[in-house]
Amino acid sequence: MTDEKDIHDEMEEVFQTSMGTCQKCGGILKLDKVNLEDVEEGKLYLMENVSAQVCTQCGEMWVPEPIMKEFEKMIETAHKFHKKIRKQKNKKNKKNKKNKKISKLR
Ligand SMILES: [Zn+2]
Repeated sequence: MTDEKDIHDEMEEVFQTSMGTCQKCGGILKLDKVNLEDVEEGKLYLMENVSAQVCTQCGEMWVPEPIMKEFEKMIETAHKFHKKIRKQKNKKNKKNKKNKKISKLR
C-alpha cells in the first residue's frame, strides 16, 4: 500500500530536475497532485494523489510514464479480477470530477 507513495516520491525528485514547460502551450508547469481517471467497460478507475506536472496556463496535466504504467497496471489487474468473479455491472454512474485545473492567482 505504501509502495505507491515511494514511486510518487521518486517521481517528485525527477520532476524537480526535469524541465518545466508545457508541450502544448509553453506555459510553466507546476508540480501538483492530481487524480487520474479512466473509464473502462463502464467502470471508473481512479488513482488519487499522483504527482503530475500541471500547466499553469492551459491546465494540461503531464503525467510521467511510470505513473501512467502503474495506473494501467491497476486497471488491468482490476479487469482480470472482475472477469473472474463476473460482478454485476454497477449502473450507477459515478460523477467524474473534472480534472483539476490550476487557476490560482498569484
Ligand atoms: Zn499549457
